[in-house]
Amino acid sequence: MDRAASLLSDVFGFDAFRPGQRDIVDAVSGNENVLAIMPTGGGKSLCFQLPALLDESGLTVVISPLIALMRDQVQALKASGVVAGALTSGNTEEETNAVFEAIDAGTLRLLYMAPERLASGGAVNLLRRAGVNRIAVDEAHCVSQWGHDFRPDYLRIGDLRRALNVPIAAFTATADAETRVEISQRLFDGETPKTFLHGFDRPNIHLAFAAKDGPRQQILAFAAARKGQSGIVYCGTRAKTEGLSGALNQAGHSACFYHGGMDPDMRREVEARFQREDGLIVVATVAFGMGVDKPDIRWVAHADLPKSIEAYYQEIGRGGRDGAPAETLTLYGPDDIRLRRSQIDEGLAPPERRSADHARLNALLGLAEALDCRRASLLAYFGETNVKCENCDLCDTPVDVFDGTTAVRKALSAILRTNEYFGAGHLIDVLLGNETDKIRARGHDDLPTYGVGKEYSKREWQAVFRQMMGHDLVRPDPERHGALRMTDEALPILRGEASIRLRRDSIKAASKFSPAVR
Ligand code: ADP
Ligand code: ZN
Repeated sequence: MDRAASLLSDVFGFDAFRPGQRDIVDAVSGNENVLAIMPTGGGKSLCFQLPALLDESGLTVVISPLIALMRDQVQALKASGVVAGALTSGNTEEETNAVFEAIDAGTLRLLYMAPERLASGGAVNLLRRAGVNRIAVDEAHCVSQWGHDFRPDYLRIGDLRRALNVPIAAFTATADAETRVEISQRLFDGETPKTFLHGFDRPNIHLAFAAKDGPRQQILAFAAARKGQSGIVYCGTRAKTEGLSGALNQAGHSACFYHGGMDPDMRREVEARFQREDGLIVVATVAFGMGVDKPDIRWVAHADLPKSIEAYYQEIGRGGRDGAPAETLTLYGPDDIRLRRSQIDEGLAPPERRSADHARLNALLGLAEALDCRRASLLAYFGETNVKCENCDLCDTPVDVFDGTTAVRKALSAILRTNEYFGAGHLIDVLLGNETDKIRARGHDDLPTYGVGKEYSKREWQAVFRQMMGHDLVRPDPERHGALRMTDEALPILRGEASIRLRRDSIKAASKFSPAVR
């Protein structure tokens, strides 16, 4: 792993870059003048924070118009062990003194400043002594005199740049060409900065998810329909890469496996073969991909749910770099959800970070259980709207959606009546009124919920439970293997204050790729 990637995970706790971030980070840490246009929520702050830490020493000055935002960012950075500070009108005397001390000691890495601060000559002199490496400008459109957010003090940033003679990295979500020209004039003295303005959409990549239903067969069927094309299958475990690669070879494909447990020579050998040969399938863990730069990867399949929506985007993004059509298929099931949740719960991350990780997992599950266009959900997550698609499974075949409120309430009631002590299998037996030993032993045939769910089959209930997990209405209890507990998200549905729509045909959709096993 290179240094940027290891800082990304060690300091920020993220497993993959978001679209655009990597290129911007590289340009900023290469000391170029940069203008990056990214939608709100796209992850701009990382693009100047990470380069500040990539430098061995020195300080990045961050000009930002919003005091509350600065304070949040400084707090988050400090919590991650980064020496950061802010100079704003809201500072206490101690806070300001601490900043000066860190500057004198040469330990400060990021200094947030309100633009008003630049009005005093003292600030510029201070920064001259402070070993500033670069200036980052957040909300750079505030320099535009014709815009709604014009901040006169932003005009001083150009002077600051001249005084310090360092590069500027400017960020904004406002993309119109006039504003861009104005930013270039006022911040970069009319020189054109290296500009990053790309949508995140990869329209040639077809997106599809399917619930696991004989997953090995599903992957084999997907590969069989694309015989002779180069593809990647991502798996959650090393053992699985070896097993699945064997099965693909047996089915007449040319496949090999790749994971972090192999010795480096063997790994390089696989990378070289993949680059060189047409139609090779690499079955790999996430360790595969960093160095892969093959333009004509025609398909990417996930045999297990990826770690996050960022990881998903990065991994499918390895397909179709040449712009020609590429296909993807991501499989997921309740076991994936359970595994990912327990990885978060059992990880060493502090509680705030863990809840952010759960939220990010929820976003990925939301994508998996999406009711309409997947591309729209994916890009909305990265802040992009107005997406045109017609290249995902849900645009191809709209899903059959039904009002699942009653089903979900019945399932929740079965969970609560059995004291949140059981897994989906037993709960489904209760709902269907099955006569099992466990039901009799526990006296669950006396429950009011016993047999109230006969309108659905076992498979349909499985889909309901999986979607409830996907919507984070229930979570597996890390203390009790497999037992489902209700989350607060479910309260409005339980109380009858909210309704929920579920997909009826997600199991049928899965079978599209595996007609043989049904
Ligand atoms: P912006 O300034 O572009 O509106 P932020 O920098 O505040 O966006 O980032 C938005 C959110 O995205 C934050 O919660 C941040 O923690 C998260 N984020 C940024 N980069 C990543 C990443 N690579 N992986 C996961 N989450 C990220
Ligand atoms: Zn679509």
